[in-house]
Amino acid sequence: MRPFPSTSLARPLFHAGHSTEDQFRELIAALGLVFDRGRFMQRCAACNALGFERLLPSDVDGSSGEGAWRGRVTAKVLSLGTVREFMGCRRCGKVYWVSVAGGL
Ligand SMILES: [Zn+2]
Repeated sequence: MRPFPSTSLARPLFHAGHSTEDQFRELIAALGLVFDRGRFMQRCAACNALGFERLLPSDVDGSSGEGAWRGRVTAKVLSLGTVREFMGCRRCGKVYWVSVAGGL
């Protein structure tokens, strides 16, 4: 096994907390991170851009939608009728939505 590089900027952080929440608190404190609730989950997973556009099913529907978002969501997703709001990345155009567990 290779030893941990002592000259690296990286250093190990040993968690004392047993729960995920406690470990996050330790990590935030150790790294001096500031949690901004307004920016939480606001970055695109595909391109890392900040900022989404709220979209309605009618905006993304390939058969009736208009504009840049038309056809960005499959008919199968829209046919479920369970998703009422989508979020589109303003940079790359990827569309996200909240799915129910065990769904898509
Ligand atoms: Zn994006």
